[in-house]
Amino acid sequence: MTRIYSPFVVAKFGGTSVANFDAMSRSASIVLADPQVRVVVLSASSGVTNLLVSLSEGLSAQDRSDKIETLRALTHAILSSLKQPDAVRPSIDTLLDSITRLADQAAQASSPALSDELVSHGELLSTLLFTAILSERGAKANWLDAREIIRTDSHFGCAEPDITAIAQQVQTRLLPHVEDSIVVTQGFIGSDADGRTTTLGRGGSDYTASLLGEALTASRVDIWTDVAGIYTTDPRIVPQAQRIDTLSFSEASDMAAYGAKVLHPATLMPAMRKNIPVFVGSSKNPEAGGTRVCRETENPTSYRALAVRRKQTLVKCRRPDAQSSVEFNARIFALLAELRLQAELVSTSENGIAWILDATHATSGDDGDLLTSLQEKLAAHCVLEVESGLALMTLVGHRLSQSERLCRDVFSQLDGCAVRMVCHGAGEHNLSVLLPGESADSAVKMLHKRLFEQTEAQGYAA
Ligand code: ASP
Ligand code: MG
Repeated sequence: MTRIYSPFVVAKFGGTSVANFDAMSRSASIVLADPQVRVVVLSASSGVTNLLVSLSEGLSAQDRSDKIETLRALTHAILSSLKQPDAVRPSIDTLLDSITRLADQAAQASSPALSDELVSHGELLSTLLFTAILSERGAKANWLDAREIIRTDSHFGCAEPDITAIAQQVQTRLLPHVEDSIVVTQGFIGSDADGRTTTLGRGGSDYTASLLGEALTASRVDIWTDVAGIYTTDPRIVPQAQRIDTLSFSEASDMAAYGAKVLHPATLMPAMRKNIPVFVGSSKNPEAGGTRVCRETENPTSYRALAVRRKQTLVKCRRPDAQSSVEFNARIFALLAELRLQAELVSTSENGIAWILDATHATSGDDGDLLTSLQEKLAAHCVLEVESGLALMTLVGHRLSQSERLCRDVFSQLDGCAVRMVCHGAGEHNLSVLLPGESADSAVKMLHKRLFEQTEAQGYAA
């Protein structure tokens, strides 16, 4: 199918790229350097979402006022660097007052809906300030409330976008402005059918950018962050990690899903649906280039990257003797669906079912909350055994399922490590190993060395 792409580029800047006036100014220069960039999606300044999440959990009066003071200082520091701060100050102060009011409410009784409302203020603040910076630099910039466009369901903390409604809203509320101005809007936030604020899960601004890119049929989505692209593994664990210049959508989405922090896991789906290339680069160092994610790649090597997801919980569900495996499996999966829980790395046997639980992306709630509801739901049907503090290490590669040396390459490096579970085969491009959390770093280092620092292993299928 031939698709007509709009000339527009959607550029998203993460928390460190809008952390203060200097960072915002650098990001503004990136926007202004490319006339095709007409939609700018921003995260909250770094640290702000965490601060707002803690306010939404209900703090003492003293802690609340300390946190709000920190936020006021951060925001006012940016404001005071503007040439005309008074043009934006009233809107900023209204938002800070609203944060104070919502934090007081949360201290009385907190709820996921209230939490999303409160947390959304981080992006509202950063976008107001950034719009002012662009305007002061002579650009025609329009601030847009993303909640008018990003329609979602009411699953607060991790809402599901409504693609059809978003496409309609983009046509009527966004498109008319992009022809002659730069539209600045918030990542991460949306609204449900009743107009209540929702969020797309932690790190969700990337997802907003690609949803808007999809609705606009943009020619590219740029994700500006603090690293110059996607690496073979987290360079904080392995300094020898190398930047990957091109990745396919499926490789990059596997990496994101399995813990590479650089992209929100859902980000690539909208881009994939419309075949829109996604570029990942560093706003601190745009000249360093980055990673291009697109449909086709010419990557010769088979091993592409190693991702790690921490804080994984292994859940085992023992089957009662009186029940057949078929009935038992059907019942457990139905109960998990009711809880909207995606069981990953599922393994079934005569004794029951085992899977892992991951809570790394919800705005509110952690393993503890999920486990409590799981226990309540499943207690009547089976005996649950739970083991937390595990880490999931995933090797992403091109056609791993065809490799005859995969097992030797991987498992020879895991000698001495108590592997808890292995998953391979459901997808063509990955192999996941569940390990004790404390073994993860050394396993990644050893495996990276074997697979990415020795040319012989890298090129096995070339
Ligand atoms: N500000 C939100 C967060 O910290 C969303 C994002 O940065 O993408 O999770
Ligand atoms: Mg992010």
